[in-house]
Amino acid sequence: MAEIAVTNCAKLEDYKQAVVHAGGEVRVVEQGTDITEALRGAGGLLLTGGDDVSPSRYGETTHAATLEGSPERDEFEIALVNEARRIGMPIFGICRGIQVMNVALGGTLIQDIPSQVENALDHSLKVPPHKAFDYAHDVWVEDNSLLARLMTERLSGSDSCAVNSRHHQAVKQVAPGLKVVATAPDGIIEAIEDPEARFCLGVQWHPENFWRTGEFRPLFEGFVEASNKRT
Ligand code: MN
Repeated sequence: MAEIAVTNCAKLEDYKQAVVHAGGEVRVVEQGTDITEALRGAGGLLLTGGDDVSPSRYGETTHAATLEGSPERDEFEIALVNEARRIGMPIFGICRGIQVMNVALGGTLIQDIPSQVENALDHSLKVPPHKAFDYAHDVWVEDNSLLARLMTERLSGSDSCAVNSRHHQAVKQVAPGLKVVATAPDGIIEAIEDPEARFCLGVQWHPENFWRTGEFRPLFEGFVEASNKRT
């Protein structure tokens, strides 16, 4: 069984559980590790949530509401994405992860939805009092995408479903080669994928928070399956 390289973050447990409940094995990779070593023998790369990517990474100056995290983490994860792409390794990016993916491949980010997008929904529901798995808004899912195929049961014949939401940034310009496959009703991009890759998917919501009840388990199952095929 292939190991999934999971980038370390402050809320690691739900990501680990989501992978394990989809039949995968977890290898936590720490920033600063040699990139080749970090991915050696792994089947897939899971990019987790966290602080904002430095806007200098996509050629912008820092907005007042942007909370820059760690330049070392940006550096490490962008290098992981590029190496995983180079060797054809499946990639699944979640929240900060979709943003890292997009920036690594040449896209840009909206730095602060509330102050930069008119009439936007509230995408940053805080927990508590909300629970991590409380739904915040719907997403419309593009037919004929990996995401739609994985979410067939969840969508059950519809083209939209409810998701949770804890982000103040989002994909702005989509990186070359990637395609938008889910949007919120206010137009905010909620998922991107590479139609040419076996599995290269990013989602802006937090499917890992649902590992106990399984609403988004097929996303992790599809990712683990693609990662197993690789080895
Ligand atoms: Mn959202």
